[in-house]
Amino acid sequence: MTSFTPSMPDHDCTLCPRLVAFRHDNQEKYPDFFNGPVPSFGPILASILVVGLAPGLKGANCTGRPFTGDYAGDLLYPTLKTFGFASGDFGARADDGFELLNCRITNAVRCVPPQNKTIAQEETACRPFLIDEMKAMINLKAIVALGGVGHNAVIQTLGFKKSQWKFGHNVRHELPDGLPVLFDSYHCSRYNTNTGRLTEDMFHDVFRSVCHELNLGV
Ligand code: URA
Repeated sequence: MTSFTPSMPDHDCTLCPRLVAFRHDNQEKYPDFFNGPVPSFGPILASILVVGLAPGLKGANCTGRPFTGDYAGDLLYPTLKTFGFASGDFGARADDGFELLNCRITNAVRCVPPQNKTIAQEETACRPFLIDEMKAMINLKAIVALGGVGHNAVIQTLGFKKSQWKFGHNVRHELPDGLPVLFDSYHCSRYNTNTGRLTEDMFHDVFRSVCHELNLGV
């Protein structure tokens, strides 16, 4: 099997009316921001795919790189480095030279949603890009879904019903037919860390599980 470049929404994608309207507002308000569907980050031949929710307004939507400039990235990227999935110094800018190793990051919805909340139409409209992403990742062995939206996007992308596979923090879902193993984590959002729903140790536990699954020593 050979790798291919997955399809990607155009910068002026029109699939989601609400997100298009929000993008136009943001282009006026923040003309220097990226303001478009944020591409995935990391090598396509990676074994691990992290699936987030959607870009943050002043984070990934500004920098054009997932979780970059977002509070959530301040936990995600150092964690990836701790477990050997990144190198360099994370500088919260797309040009910081930080690199992912054997790991790729994408979002269930590629455009920033108002109030950080996606709706079902947007999750459905963006799903073909996730399907393509997974097909292109020919070495994919494990997926880490951040939060319920990421979890449901993966489950539905793989053709299952949401009710068959319930979200749970650090739960390992062994999917049939040689599909990649799915691990869930509470989203590493500021809300979850501030409320104590997710601690750094709990987040590390998930990546420890992934390393164990892939026989990567940590
Ligand atoms: N939160 C996400 O889920 N994804 C991003 O890219 C940024 C913040």
